[in-house]
Amino acid sequence: MNNNFKQAREQARELDRRDPLRNFRKQFWIPKQADGREQLYFCGNSLGLQPKAVKAAILEELTLWQERGVEGHFKGERPWTTYNDLLRGPMAELIGAKPHEVVFMNSLTVNLHLMMISFYRPQGQRNRILIEQQPFPSDRYAVESQIRMHGLDPAECLVEIAASGNGRIINETSVEDYLAEQGDKVALVLWPGVHYASGQLFDLARIATASHKAGALCGFDLAHAAGNVPLKLHDSGVDFAVWCTYKYLNSGTGAVGACFVNESHNQRVGLTRLHGWWGNDPESRFLMGSEFVPAKGVDAWQLSNPPILAMAPIRVSLALFQQAGMTALRHKSIEMTAYLEQLIRSELNDSLEIITPAEPENRGCQLSLRVLAGRDAGRALFERLEENGTIPDWREPDVLRVAPVPLYNRYDDCWQFVNQVKRYLSIS
Ligand SMILES: *Cc1c(COP(=O)(O)O)cnc(C)c1O
Repeated sequence: MNNNFKQAREQARELDRRDPLRNFRKQFWIPKQADGREQLYFCGNSLGLQPKAVKAAILEELTLWQERGVEGHFKGERPWTTYNDLLRGPMAELIGAKPHEVVFMNSLTVNLHLMMISFYRPQGQRNRILIEQQPFPSDRYAVESQIRMHGLDPAECLVEIAASGNGRIINETSVEDYLAEQGDKVALVLWPGVHYASGQLFDLARIATASHKAGALCGFDLAHAAGNVPLKLHDSGVDFAVWCTYKYLNSGTGAVGACFVNESHNQRVGLTRLHGWWGNDPESRFLMGSEFVPAKGVDAWQLSNPPILAMAPIRVSLALFQQAGMTALRHKSIEMTAYLEQLIRSELNDSLEIITPAEPENRGCQLSLRVLAGRDAGRALFERLEENGTIPDWREPDVLRVAPVPLYNRYDDCWQFVNQVKRYLSIS
């Protein structure tokens, strides 16, 4: 082992000792390997780990149901009918929204459809949706099917903005340029906050501003941004956003999704929206009238009563984010990802390419890596790592994603990751 690499381990241990957030790791269950050692878990971008307090929070709701039955809707410490009110404040804080611009409901793709039903209203030649090249498949399927639902052809109406070079990084200028030239044909810009494959973080305000200048609306998929990077949805002028809570927000597999609608749309008349009783104004919801009276803001998009057993983990998770604070989390995240990046560059430069942008303002915690020897070598490396209790993830065709999460990962995890990769690629 070379001296610099040895010293890097000392440095990692020192950084961990001094980390003001180090105790948060103890509040999570870290999965174990067969031999009882903790996994090196780098997959918080796919499924965040379970906060230890989650089980008790779910049990509390089960107990309320057990002991009070239907009264749980209105009685007890946290009545089910108003459960969203417990969550929207802390969530709004994390993403820079007003509490009444945020609601938890359904799942990401469902919410994306509900949003597009309202905010993709093609008219005449203004019928295009702008998305990034190679979007997450679900988003693409959703967009294509929305276009078809209007009797239009995705080959004409779905526009993918290509990466600027031959890599996977898309310059915001490409979006601005397209909108400057063809903006009168664009109805909606649907963009990621952080791209799932490349890890690129986009400038939301810039994209929203360019969209509005062209007369288009602008929505964001924040699946990889929420809980990963600080956001200012309201001030950025974003029209709507959707995200899931099982990635960086640690709320469990298939957890309930969330949705943001800018309050500037509250007064809009003639909005197309699918309705259900839970979107009715709570004041008259239980009067069982035949006329739909929309609740204020984003709440009007709710269809059904909320799945409380699935929402309880969100309450626990958001409390941890509140305790840690996004500023401190982001600070550690930038430092830890830079530590990992620097180590990869110094130890693995001949074997790995980092796809993710180098500037902290253009990325979250995730680094996306490519094994230079090719896809098969990359896939083999991923499998070796996994067999040995190190959990990054693999995204076809050739991306190894590593996400050191500031709530529970350690600098030393990053060192051990690089050490293992060196070993498996036979570099010493
Ligand atoms: C994770 C992810 C999804 C998942 O969608 P679900 O509806 O929650 O299954 C969709 N889009 C993007 C960009 C994602 O990263």
